[in-house]
Amino acid sequence: MATTRQKLNRHFWAGWILVVALSGVLAGLHGLFNEAGWWFLALVVVAIVGVFVAMYRTRCVMCGAPLRRMGLWWHPGAEANWSPPCPSCKKHIDRIEPFKR
Ligand SMILES: [Zn+2]
Repeated sequence: MATTRQKLNRHFWAGWILVVALSGVLAGLHGLFNEAGWWFLALVVVAIVGVFVAMYRTRCVMCGAPLRRMGLWWHPGAEANWSPPCPSCKKHIDRIEPFKR
């Protein structure tokens, strides 16, 4: 049982911690392998883009549709005082996920 807001907050923290960690790896490796490791640097860049794509594709717990920009630009304090609706089903993000059999 969860709400879309809890999911957005979870994706926010996991996503940004990963981006910061990967940027650190990127900066460290750039210093170490200035010429040889370009393919690995490219891999890290792809991983960072992947994290953003995963945030963009955060799904609404009510209808399962990706929240798109709302997921990408979410931060835990955003819309703290009201409950924005899901862009596809228009159900508010603080509604608890329906019981699944
Ligand atoms: Zn929805």
